[in-house]
Amino acid sequence: MLKIKYKTINILKTLSKFKSKKIYNLKNTRKTSSNSIFNNKQNITFFIILFIITAISILGFFKYKKFTYSKNSFINNSNKIEIHYIDVGQGDSILIKVNNKKILIDSGSKKSSSKIFSHLRKENIKKFDYIIATHPHEDHIGNMDKILDKYTVSNFYAPKKLSNTTYFKSMVKSLKRKKLKINIANSDKTIDLGPNCYGKFLAPKNATYDNINNYSAVLKICYKDSIFIFTGDAECLSEDEILDKYKNLQCDVLKLGHHGSSTSTSDNFLDQLSPKIAIISCGKNNRYGHPSKKTIKKLKKRKIRTYRTDIDGTIIITSDGKNIYKK
Ligand SMILES: [Zn+2]
Repeated sequence: MLKIKYKTINILKTLSKFKSKKIYNLKNTRKTSSNSIFNNKQNITFFIILFIITAISILGFFKYKKFTYSKNSFINNSNKIEIHYIDVGQGDSILIKVNNKKILIDSGSKKSSSKIFSHLRKENIKKFDYIIATHPHEDHIGNMDKILDKYTVSNFYAPKKLSNTTYFKSMVKSLKRKKLKINIANSDKTIDLGPNCYGKFLAPKNATYDNINNYSAVLKICYKDSIFIFTGDAECLSEDEILDKYKNLQCDVLKLGHHGSSTSTSDNFLDQLSPKIAIISCGKNNRYGHPSKKTIKKLKKRKIRTYRTDIDGTIIITSDGKNIYKK
């Protein structure tokens, strides 16, 4: 597991500090012991002190080991958020696990159905607390009908944008079968994700747009100190609206809009959000040329660590709220 350091002191640093503290304490004790020899006390005093020093060292060692162990269990237990940017070829599908809740953002295209279903099976997913369809394009909702048919779903969110396409109609049919209503995703709306975590929609801000991509539901999820933003296919216009509405918005991990296309990820958006990690969800050798060279250049210039599903496959990011890790 590759560890990515950022903003806060990582646990290993804390550990080394803890260790240095211990050494400092031992030095003090050693000083006392040498003083006692110069004070002409009996040799037995020296051995008692030596015994105490050894005992403290051993105890200190076990304490360190125990802490190291608890560090690992801390990462592996439920005190974390886990995000899977599933490799669905050209499209988006993101699985989020936090506080025993499961959230799915988009379903990938019909073509990728075996990829998404095998991943969900591998993760032993039985139900979704939230499903978010960012916008009605096939590469985002292509498998939504099947997913709704197969899994128990508590809440469904989508922007207020209808479509006449067969895949959209099929999604609506599945929603009706499940007696699920569409909760409208728009800016400021929040979703409950349990303790230490919250989700908030940043977009869409307006009711109508010329470009369907700008209807994209943009979601921010905070887990303790770590912030993740999922943009769907939101383009620069929506990014500008987000910047205008949320003045101090920042994030640690940004899923770039529209598969890294040049129509999204403006310089302003990157500069304000200052992500440490960028995720691009796109297909190998896709016909749109995603991600755009311009976007990659912007990320490189800002030294933003970038992962791409076309190169890295499914990308799994976890956070304990202070550090971010990539599996
Ligand atoms: Zn798309």
